[in-house]
Formats: sequence, C-alpha cells, structure tokens
Amino acid sequence: MRPLTLRTKLTLFYSITVSVLLSGFGLVYYRVLSVGLDRDITQDVIDRASGLRGYLRFEEGLPVFDYDPNDPDELSFINTATRYYQVYEVRTGMLLAESDELRATGIQYLPQDLIRYAQIPPSLIDLQTDQGKIRLRNEAVPVEGDIYLLVVGASMRQMEDALSSFLKALAWLIPSGVLLAAIASWFMAGKALQPVAELGKVAGEIAVTSLNRRLPVRGTNDELDQLAIEFNDTLARLEKAVGEMKQFTASISHELRTPLAVLRGEAEVALMEADSTDQYRRVLSSQLEEFEKLSRMINQLLTLARAESGEVAIAHEPVNFSHMARSLAEQLEPVAASKDVSLSWKCDPDVMLRGDASWIERVILNLADNAIKFTRPGGHVWITVTRNGHDAVLEVADDGIGIVPEAVPHIFERFYRADPSRANRADGAGLGLSLVKWAVDQHDGSVQVESKPGGGKRFVVKIPLLAEEGWPRDQ
Ligand code: ADP
Repeated sequence: MRPLTLRTKLTLFYSITVSVLLSGFGLVYYRVLSVGLDRDITQDVIDRASGLRGYLRFEEGLPVFDYDPNDPDELSFINTATRYYQVYEVRTGMLLAESDELRATGIQYLPQDLIRYAQIPPSLIDLQTDQGKIRLRNEAVPVEGDIYLLVVGASMRQMEDALSSFLKALAWLIPSGVLLAAIASWFMAGKALQPVAELGKVAGEIAVTSLNRRLPVRGTNDELDQLAIEFNDTLARLEKAVGEMKQFTASISHELRTPLAVLRGEAEVALMEADSTDQYRRVLSSQLEEFEKLSRMINQLLTLARAESGEVAIAHEPVNFSHMARSLAEQLEPVAASKDVSLSWKCDPDVMLRGDASWIERVILNLADNAIKFTRPGGHVWITVTRNGHDAVLEVADDGIGIVPEAVPHIFERFYRADPSRANRADGAGLGLSLVKWAVDQHDGSVQVESKPGGGKRFVVKIPLLAEEGWPRDQ
C-alpha cells in the first residue's frame, strides 16, 4: 500500500480529533441533560404529591380536594397536580378516584401492591404505558383508622422527546462537524505545506553547475525558514567543496604541465643539438631531477587523497615526542649545514603523545624541512618540544625569508605557495603543509603560524598529551 501523504495524514488526524471531541462533548452534555431533566421530574412529582396531600379530605369515605377555586394559584396547582392521580382504600383494595389521563393509561395497583406501598415510606416508580413513561409517587394517607394510598404522577414524555431530539441533533452535528473539519484541515494542510513543496521544487532544480543558488528564506523564522537556512548552509559547504575540487584539479593539471613541458623541451633540444654521450648524460641527469620532483609530488598527492578519503587508518599508540623530534633534528642537521643554516633543538624529556608515529614524524619533518628551505645561508632554525598544560607543544622557528601577511591564511591550502618565484627556487609543490594540517587534525591538535619579530616564521603545533602520563584531563 502506498504510504499516506503528509496532507492526508494531517487531515485524518484533525478529523479524528474533532470527531472524538464532538462525540465526547455530546455524550457528556446528553448525560448532564438527562440527569437534570430526571431530577426536575422527580422534584415535580414529589411537590405535587405533598401539595395535593394537603388538600385531600374524605367525605363519607370518598376523597375530595378542599381548595379555594377563587384563588388562581391554588386552582392552577390543583389543575396540574390532578392530571395524573389515583386514590385507593388500602384495606379493601378499591380505587376510589382517579384522573382521566391516568385512567387512559390503564394503570391500576393490585391489593398486595397497595399493602406494600402503604407500609413503606413514600416511594417513586416509573411505569411504561401506551402514552409513554410515567413517574408515580405513592404516599400512604392514614385517616381516622383507615389507610388510603394517594398516587400522583407526571408524564416523562417531554423529557424523552427532548433527549431523543438532542440525540438526533448530535447524529447530524457530529458527522457534519467532522466533514467540515476534514475540509478545513485539508485546505489548511495544503496551505501550510505549500512552502515545503516550493522549497522541494527549488531544491530539486539545484545541480552541481548551479550550486550558487539558494533556497528562499521568508523571514518568518519558523521551522521552514530554519530548514531553508540549514539547507543553504549545506549548499554553501558543497559549493566550497566543489570549488576546491575544481581548483585542485586545475592545480594538478598546471603542476604536471610545467615539469612535463620542461622534460619535453629538454628532450627536443637534446635530440636536435646533443651529439656526444656527455651531452646526453647531462640532459638525462637534469631530467632525472625533474622526474624526482614529479614523483615526489605525485606521492604527496596520493597520500593526501588517500588521507582525505578516509582510507588512512591512524594508529593510536604511545609516541615519545621528545625523542622523535631530537632524532629527526640530528638527522636534518647535516642537510641544514649543507645550506649553511644552523639547526639547534631543545626538547623537554619524555613528552608523550598518543598517536601515529609515522604521521607525527611527517609533521616534524615537513615543518623543519620548510624552515631550512626558506632560510637564507647564515640563518638559523630552532626546534623545541615542551609541555603546556595538557598539550605537547612543538615549535619550529626560523629567521628566514618569512611569509607576506596576506599569504598566511592560505599556506595550509593544497598547492598554495606564498611566493611562486621563491617557491620555484625552493622546489615544492605546496602540499607539505596540507599534509601537516591533516595529520595534526587527526590527532585532535592544532597548528598555527606566527611571525617572528626580526623576520622569519614560527610554526606552533599543539597535540594533547598522553592521558596515562598522569596529567588530569579536563572533560
Ligand atoms: P612546499 O612544498 O611548497 O613547501 P608547503 O605546503 O610546505 O609547500 O608550504 C606552502 C608555502 O608556505 C610554501 O610554498 C612557502 O611559501 C610557505 N612557507 C612554508 N613554511 C615557510 C617558512 N618556514 N618560511 C617561509 N615560508 C614558508
């Protein structure tokens, strides 16, 4: 079965709610009405019986009502109260007097009933007759040694008629109320859901080529506006990601084209001009450098692509950060010295981390390599490892050529080189810092770059210390 639409569900929900409410109200009102009418009739019968009893006299054994016919109140009471009445002599079981209307119903008590009613306090009974239901009050009247039974009644027909008309009205009202509610909620739901449909339509039209489009925000600050805002944020992130992808693809093509053009140019020149083994050897060794540069770049790219696609699993093992930084610095010292750059290091003992040794090594190497690369002969590079609160802190500083301020926010982007003319000289593809940033993020750390007073740069990496080392961790 096809699932119901939201509009149908809302309509059903409102209709069922309205029908339950109307039926509930109807039933409660019916009950209140019937109890009230019933009570009124009982009170009426009791009043009539006790009033009539006051006027009842017996003359020669026959009942008469002794009242003043000139008093309109008395007259009207007697007229009403005597519509349904009977007087019995209990001893003989004889019916002494009765009203025409009660006679018409055919009600007559048996002698044993009379005896029973005469012995108990005044009672009420309901009897069903051809003229409808009648409520009767039976009161024993003792007069000079004899006992009479005064029976006074009231018809319950009016009450039954009122209740049945009320039920008939309900039988119309409830279905028409529900129908009205269904129609109204169908339109309301349609109207309320219209903006959703519009949002859906606009959202459906957005494709990769039109990621700059945004859903309309109506300014009502309701749930739909929130949805549109969230969706627009997602679109903005997608647009940025797709933009970066395009930029990345363009950069790769560009980065590959240059060395390929160099290789091709060298090969052509060699083919045209070289005629000795020595000349070919020179060209080939120059090409080898280009090949190395290319394969280094492709390796870095592959690593970055694998890292960002989540294929790389990061180990979580204890790493002695101080030990690692010190031994890398020792290895790099000859490289720095070959460029006439002095490298010094200072590491607090046993600063421990939990992480992936090979990625942390890559972080230190990339930063130190850059510092050496971008420092002029005679310059200085410093590597320090310290603890700061709950963090292990690596600082790689140099007094080299520095970075222009406007380039600083971009240096962690892929293929970004602060100054291409200088970068070419230092032959990097602009991928090293992207890898550093990715690795530091994977270790829940941060990497920042600061300008050093007097020139040069300082890269500061913070990674949480190993918890087991005994420092309390903030939650
Ligand atoms: P590359 O492989 O080109 O070095 P990176 O991603 O490591 O790529 O660095 C990006 C750019 O940041 C570099 O091209 C350079 O312009 C700048 N940079 C990085 N480290 C330093 C530094 N210590 N001093 C000056 N500039 C730096």
